[in-house]
Amino acid sequence: MDALAPVPLNDGHTLPALGFGTWRVSGEDAAEQVRSALGAGYRLIDTAASYGNEAEVGRAVATSGVPREEVLVTSKLRGADQGYDAALRGFERSLGALGLDRLDLYLIHWPLPARDLYVDSWRALVRLREEGVVRSVGVSNFTAAHLDRLVAETGVTPAVNQIELHPGFVQEEMRAANAARGVVTQSWGPLGRGKGLLETAEVRAVAAAHGVSPARAVLRWHHQLGVVPLPKSADPRRRRENLDIGGFVLTGEEMAVLGTLPQRRLGGDPDTHEE
Ligand code: NDP
Repeated sequence: MDALAPVPLNDGHTLPALGFGTWRVSGEDAAEQVRSALGAGYRLIDTAASYGNEAEVGRAVATSGVPREEVLVTSKLRGADQGYDAALRGFERSLGALGLDRLDLYLIHWPLPARDLYVDSWRALVRLREEGVVRSVGVSNFTAAHLDRLVAETGVTPAVNQIELHPGFVQEEMRAANAARGVVTQSWGPLGRGKGLLETAEVRAVAAAHGVSPARAVLRWHHQLGVVPLPKSADPRRRRENLDIGGFVLTGEEMAVLGTLPQRRLGGDPDTHEE
């Protein structure tokens, strides 16, 4: 496997080019998967307060044998903890559950515009970064308008915006909006969440042309778009496979073909989603 260059952030730090997702994995399964992912070579682990697995993720990081300073842990502020004081308390709970003394990346999970608390929440995240208990701060599922409001009201641009992104939902405008503001895009649901993307003729043809699996072809597509995918797999062999995206390059035509699949959002709409 070729090493993939780390991705620079607007705050001077970097992110690994690919991370491991932990949505809907709990209990001993979560601890086992994260420990095994770290053993396989993942160095960015994505969790969230609302996943209910921070304790297991933290335990896996602590017992993986990989030095803490080599691992980046992301967590996310849940909707119930939005607001300035509530966000500070929510962060303390997450850090306590994880058993860590600092977080590497902390995101506002959803903007929840109807509640109109995301700017206050953002001020709390900025304070946590200034205090040194969070290395980088960012958001998830934010639109360009949400990003602009944060910047206008606080002067601080998020380092990351984690959005739904896969060949079945290519998010061209949102990727461009993030890039124009110096925000790194992370892809959630990068493999299409097990809903048929990897079985499409287009993905299979591109994969076959390189002698790789459909998942590797799709993750390479993310990498060549300059975004950071966060694939999840319960299967150790697939976890290793998903890391192995460095030894081949998709042509411009193949990149374009993967962008022509029917487009459909699989998750919530940032303007209306409620947690
Ligand atoms: P993914 O797109 O990562 O898809 C996971 C599915 O793909 C599973 O069914 C898995 O099955 C399958 N899969 C994984 N690897 C392979 C492979 N090599 N070959 C064939 N199938 C494979 O979906 P997620 O929704 O989990 O998204 C990834 C992560 O993004 C989450 O875990 C979470 O961390 C984050 N996320 C963030 C959100 C946000 O609002 N910020 C929302 C949703 C997710 P199997 O396990 O059997 O291998």
